[in-house]
Order: sequence, then structure tokens, then C-alpha cells
Amino acid sequence: MANGDDLDHADRRLRTLQHCALHRRTIRLTCPICGHVRSFDAVALWWMYERRGWDDCLPGAYRRMYCTGCKAKRDAVVRPRAEITRDRPDDRQPPYPDEATWKRLVSRYRS
Ligand SMILES: [Zn+2]
Repeated sequence: MANGDDLDHADRRLRTLQHCALHRRTIRLTCPICGHVRSFDAVALWWMYERRGWDDCLPGAYRRMYCTGCKAKRDAVVRPRAEITRDRPDDRQPPYPDEATWKRLVSRYRS
């Protein structure tokens, strides 16, 4: 990625979904087989991993993801290509953390 969307303001690579969430990125997943694209708000995606106790370190965390189109049509588990972007995410997102949880995370990160 040449556009720097996977870097923070200090040019450090965003290494976890939590970092991506704090920097308000979008995770764009593209299926290499059918071309299906799904854009997650990193905040919602991070919270999904957090609730389930999944490791959110990148790129390992992406291995939890699969193309829902290929799964439904051919019962195939296809790992999508992942990109960190600043694009607007899809309208449909997994649940977001509540305000208190989110504020706690942000203040912990800043301290
Ligand atoms: Zn697919």
C-alpha cells in the first residue's frame, strides 16, 4: 500500500484492529474469487473481535474472515484480500461498542 492509510500520524504501521479503530480506518475485504467487496468500519470490526476474545493482531486477524458470497453459493471458505483504507464503510455494520467502552479505550490509548 503506497497511500499510507495503514500508517498512523507518526508513520507507524497499524498492527491491530484496535489501532485501526482508534485511527478510524475502514477495512476493505475483497474476495479473489467472486470479487465481492465488504467494507468494515474498524471500530465495529474490532469490537466483534474483542467480544469474542479473538486476537486482533494483523495480518493474522484477517484469517477469521471469509467471503460470505462464496460460502453461501458454493460452501467454499475463501479468504479475502484485506486493505486498510479511509473510505466510507458499508452502511450495514456489526454492532458498535457502547459509548463508555469506546471512551475507556480511547483514554487508555492516550495515556
Ligand atoms: Zn467470494
